Amino acid sequence: MSSRTYICTACRTARRAEAWHGMPSPLRCSLCRGSLWELSRKWRIPAKTNDKGWSELEQIVAEETPLRATLLRERGHRLLRQLDDKLGKLRVQNPKGRNDARIAVLQSQRDKVLAEYFM
Ligand SMILES: [Zn+2]
Repeated sequence: MSSRTYICTACRTARRAEAWHGMPSPLRCSLCRGSLWELSRKWRIPAKTNDKGWSELEQIVAEETPLRATLLRERGHRLLRQLDDKLGKLRVQNPKGRNDARIAVLQSQRDKVLAEYFM
């Protein structure tokens, strides 16, 4: 399990935690309770008083936020398409409801994708 550095640029705090790979995580800043930004690679975390260092990190967050949102949306759409393909086939070929359990599992995976990627 890989870990990443998460930062709150408002409070200038950083912590290590399990990687969420850009997915919205439940991790919160211990000071302001705001969401944390997962750094995509190792960064030297500047001292709290290092205005230039934190301003660079703020710029990275500002630049990457829309890109990350787009990637997540695309990944979510791809997953939905795959699940919908499987669901469609199972619903067409469902003699005597034999695929009902599998359909229910896929449907709950689909609900999970909707909640994780599009909320
Ligand atoms: Zn904070």
